Amino acid sequence: MFEEMLRVARQLDGMKVSVSVGGETDQDGYIDRQCPATDCEFSFKVHAGDWRDKVSDDGVHCAFCGHTADSQQWFTHEQVEHAKKETLDKVKGMLGQAMRTDAQRLNQSQRRNSFLKITMNVSSQPREILLPAEATDPMRLKITCSVCGCRYAVIGSAFFCPACGHNDAEQVFRQSITAIRSTLDALPLVRQGIADADTAENTVRLLIESGLQNAITAFQRFAEALYLQHPAAPKARRNVFQNLAEGGALWVMACDHGYDKHLSDSELASLSRYFQQRHLLAHKEGLVDDDYVAKSGDTTYCSGQRVVVREAAVRECVQLIETLAVGMKRDVGRGGEPLRPISGAEKKV
Ligand SMILES: [Zn+2]
Ligand SMILES: [Zn+2]
Repeated sequence: MFEEMLRVARQLDGMKVSVSVGGETDQDGYIDRQCPATDCEFSFKVHAGDWRDKVSDDGVHCAFCGHTADSQQWFTHEQVEHAKKETLDKVKGMLGQAMRTDAQRLNQSQRRNSFLKITMNVSSQPREILLPAEATDPMRLKITCSVCGCRYAVIGSAFFCPACGHNDAEQVFRQSITAIRSTLDALPLVRQGIADADTAENTVRLLIESGLQNAITAFQRFAEALYLQHPAAPKARRNVFQNLAEGGALWVMACDHGYDKHLSDSELASLSRYFQQRHLLAHKEGLVDDDYVAKSGDTTYCSGQRVVVREAAVRECVQLIETLAVGMKRDVGRGGEPLRPISGAEKKV
């Protein structure tokens, strides 16, 4: 009774069903891309023309983490889900026709009608937060690589050109700080643009927390780049500038003075607390532990509580980081000469 189904199924076996994936551009001509590294999955946009002409098929760089993979690995979750659905629709269409043919034959041979229903659920876990368009506009950072001219765009921070991997440490740092402030400025639009009050507050909280994390990551990358310019500086462990105390101690070894040349004790204490909070957000789902209380000296929390990050705190953190970064640049740049840009390949310390 399933002759036609079986015939089509045999036909489908090994057959390539082709659908186009991820070529849609936005109104400015950019296409969406997503980092394939599972602990990153950063979403960004690349100008479609530059994706075609400047980005190599062999190696695309993640704008955020610098991960490199061939050009077929960068479709967003949504693009992959969409392509899966299109493929399934095509296959279902072919099988559906075959099933109808079989059913007709069956119906001709017997009176009772029979139904067969196939439900296919494609599970997806979108991690992006949905934001109203008027709120994302001021957050979006459009960058043109100063080396290869590739145009790309991000929300939040970006550190590497997708086409050539170039990282212009100072430009990127300034742009990241600007983007974090723009995001905070856009929070009222987010609140207004999301109808459900709980979703709106949750989204605002995520944006504020990511602002804190982005600010510290921006500082870390900037400090790493500066540090590499010290010819005699001792070798640094990876991510050392994510830790204020450890990074500061290393800076003393390289420059004969520490962060305290640029920030007061109370400013450093605040910054240290923000760095510890970033650690909680990134690694402990925001839950306070004894280590946090001991290292930050923040006794307003007990172990087990969820850290609360306010917009004003992120603004203060960004301000402190900016002051510190300007001072550190003076330490290294001697007379304010421009920083030597570093490439993505050299970024690790
Ligand atoms: Zn990445
Ligand atoms: Zn480039």
